[in-house]
Amino acid sequence: MIRLAFSTSVYGSRWDIEPIPKYSLPEKEMPPNIAYKLIRDDLQLDGNPGLNLAAFLTTYMEDEAEKLMTENLSKNFIDYEEYPITVELQNRCVNMIARLFNAPNDDETIGVSTVGSSEAIMLAVLAMKRLWKKRRIAEGKPTDKPNLVMAASVQVCWEKATRYFEIEENFVYLSEGTYVLQPEKAVELVDENTIGICAILGSTYTGHYEDVKAVNDLLLVKNKKTGWDVPIHVDAASGGFVAPFVNPDLVWDFRLELVRSINVSGHKYGLCYPGVGWAIWKSKRYLPDELIFNINYLGSDQASFTLNFSKSASNIIAQYYVLIRLGRQGFTSIMRNLMSTTDYLAAKLESTNKFEVLSDRNGNGVPLVAFRLTAKDLHYDEFDVAHRLREHQWIVPSYTMAPHINNIKLLRVVLREDFSRERCNLFITDLLHTVDYLDKMDKDYIHIKRSAAGRWKALKSISVLAFKDQSHKTNGVC
Ligand SMILES: *Cc1c(COP(=O)(O)O)cnc(C)c1O
Repeated sequence: MIRLAFSTSVYGSRWDIEPIPKYSLPEKEMPPNIAYKLIRDDLQLDGNPGLNLAAFLTTYMEDEAEKLMTENLSKNFIDYEEYPITVELQNRCVNMIARLFNAPNDDETIGVSTVGSSEAIMLAVLAMKRLWKKRRIAEGKPTDKPNLVMAASVQVCWEKATRYFEIEENFVYLSEGTYVLQPEKAVELVDENTIGICAILGSTYTGHYEDVKAVNDLLLVKNKKTGWDVPIHVDAASGGFVAPFVNPDLVWDFRLELVRSINVSGHKYGLCYPGVGWAIWKSKRYLPDELIFNINYLGSDQASFTLNFSKSASNIIAQYYVLIRLGRQGFTSIMRNLMSTTDYLAAKLESTNKFEVLSDRNGNGVPLVAFRLTAKDLHYDEFDVAHRLREHQWIVPSYTMAPHINNIKLLRVVLREDFSRERCNLFITDLLHTVDYLDKMDKDYIHIKRSAAGRWKALKSISVLAFKDQSHKTNGVC
């Protein structure tokens, strides 16, 4: 018998020409190297995360962080008894972040790691709703119409929260030129059924910070006059790890009396890979006991106030790594560089006279540049620019603004840690080429190109049936 000294290459094996199992579990197994290669080869058709300027989510971490994550992949965070050190690391992160947000130094602050800001926001909304309800019951008043005041530009997770938890959306609509919540309008909308106001530190659309202090000051007056106790939750998903370093004097956090809870995404400017966020309450008083489950699991009593039970410990460990590795100094250097490149990109775009910049500058927003075409009589639009940029491999989202100003179309470049000045220059060159090309293309051809742009839509149509007939709007991208 002849024994092979080595096995056939993946591409010489039968698996290379047979269809890859797709929608039903295959009957037979296959060798690991073949499964790996088949999947890896498919994934190469995905976009390149480094050139994905659409998302806030971290695409670069240091080797040491990746090593720690890999070494801890098999740990389930919820197994407190088995992995007490991991829990301790979470608590250290909560302490550091709460102090970064100027929580009072009184042992009353409480917080938890989440899968992202969405989960953190769900928890904060539940807490606000429950506190409002308790107060209403104590006063013998109805509790069937809770509402939440927020700008219509909130990230989609706020609409999820209100729908899932049966709360009315009490929207402040935006107008052309004003892309943030107007404090007077927000406080005007507050009524006896308002469970809280959401203020955003870093709008998903344009990166602007909302004026949390103004909301706080006006709301204090209204609360005093009416006897209500309406709180503020700050959605600092994107700005929570930016403002404290770039703009430490901006007062948006727990220094304000009515800011009682804050969320932040560890996987955005917290500089960790996807899968970590934080919810922090100024005091235990603002997180009702009923929402905390004391579970006796695998031998110890533990408090749980998350929506999910099991999750990876790696992301939390990675966050702790980033916090102690960078410290205030490291974060400040990174965020200042990003701000400087943001201002550079915005100035460059404006200098072409082809673009109008809608985002803020000088550290007054998160590091992103939201812009639109200046000329109104063009035969192409921002969506065409985004499609054509894909030919240069850049992923830049084009989207319409929030309800009531959704006639405005824009493009958005999010500057993440790995977006260096060099990369920025390459992007500008490609963007200008793209616009040049579109200028020369005739209208009909652009239309043909538009219909060819939907490759991913074709993929979507064969995926989960649940996508069918989906009619909900999703705001921009995150
Ligand atoms: C990204 C984002 C969210 C959602 O955060 P995830 O961490 O992706 O769940 C919520 N609000 C704002 C303002 C965001 O930018």
